Amino acid sequence: MKLTKHHSKLIVPDCLTVPFIEGDGVGKEISDVNRQVVNKAVETAYNGQRSIEWKEVFAGEKAFRETGEWLPVETLETFREYLVGIKGPLTTPVGEGIRSLNVALRQTLDLYVCLRPVRWFRGVASPIKEPQKVNMTIFRENTEDIYAGIEWAQGTPEAARVLKFLKEEMNVKNIRFEETSAFGIKPVSVEGTERLVRAAITYALENGLPAVTLVHKGNIMKFTEGGFKKWGYALAEREFEREIKEGKIVINDCIADAFLQNTLLTPEKYSVVATLNLNGDYISDQLAAMVGGIGIAPGANINYQSGHAIFEATHGTAPDIAGKNIVNPCSLILSSVMLLEYIGWKKAAELITESLSKLFINGEATLDLSRFMANGKPMGTIQFGERLTSLIN
Ligand code: NAD
Repeated sequence: MKLTKHHSKLIVPDCLTVPFIEGDGVGKEISDVNRQVVNKAVETAYNGQRSIEWKEVFAGEKAFRETGEWLPVETLETFREYLVGIKGPLTTPVGEGIRSLNVALRQTLDLYVCLRPVRWFRGVASPIKEPQKVNMTIFRENTEDIYAGIEWAQGTPEAARVLKFLKEEMNVKNIRFEETSAFGIKPVSVEGTERLVRAAITYALENGLPAVTLVHKGNIMKFTEGGFKKWGYALAEREFEREIKEGKIVINDCIADAFLQNTLLTPEKYSVVATLNLNGDYISDQLAAMVGGIGIAPGANINYQSGHAIFEATHGTAPDIAGKNIVNPCSLILSSVMLLEYIGWKKAAELITESLSKLFINGEATLDLSRFMANGKPMGTIQFGERLTSLIN
């Protein structure tokens, strides 16, 4: 049965249908393990009263093989209809005129928040001394800023027209090398900022988190990044005045470069972070590296207004290790944990994270993590999945 949204509340049936895209490369390996783990957690948490019915939809190489299309319309329509879904990594097809499938999915459903929780699991090797202090949730804007992709290549008639416009109509005088410049536009809007910051503050309040930090580069880009900061504060004061006065939430801000330093020096100062697209890109990857890297970082793309959400492994298709039974399935599994939390099935989500914690403390992990653990015991993807499933009880 379908997840629906009624008066801003999600209505979750006991038997929930979740569409999934298996993904290319290592996709099948992690997707199989993921479904096995989630099924066990849901069954155990709710004594068989709740369940997930998985509905496969196609995208990427599998879709191209079967339908001749990289992203069939049916796939998009299914995600639209069922509100939530989960996906493995997709190859970006090389060729003129083919959009990134990930970008197409995000744009079609207007998934304006890229949500990246970052936490450390005891036992996982980290390049920093006190990784237990890292526990942040990043709200990265997903539709504006450089993600809009508005650019003109150097040497083209379009770049020449942009140059002419800038010089003659906008009185721009400081383009150092005019003839060899490419140009890009960075749109940042009031609405785009407000819906992102609103989602971040709401999340912090719902999860009892103390602060939302607006990360920006407003000292240099005064109207775009500076606008983000200004509109973010204004929204907070307008819509969350009472919560701020009662001390339930603190809104502060930090300049992006200082923030990256601070996350290494004093990560405990931050809990929820709201930021524009490019900053969010750097921040999420640095923070992921601080807690164990690419195989373990989950993510989701969400539209909190319509309820649409696609949860995903954040790594790529890893073609170098595909089919070798060594890929780490945790990024996708932790994305499922996010999905379960999103629909309010928190007990099932907790069962998975608790069991994962037990494995990592024991040094039981796939090779990418176990090789850096003092007590590391490398396990194959299938064996890791079976062991994790058996611990959920
Ligand atoms: P990648 O993430 O696939 O791989 C980078 C390195 O990390 C490789 O050495 C790989 O073996 C390793 N790695 C990745 N995930 C791992 C895991 N779960 N466990 C263990 N090791 C893991 O990045 P790439 O090589 O730059 O990209 C390969 C393909 O994936 C490209 O077609 C790219 O467009 C696509 N891609 C898709 C997504 C997505 O769908 N969200 C994201 C990034 C890249």
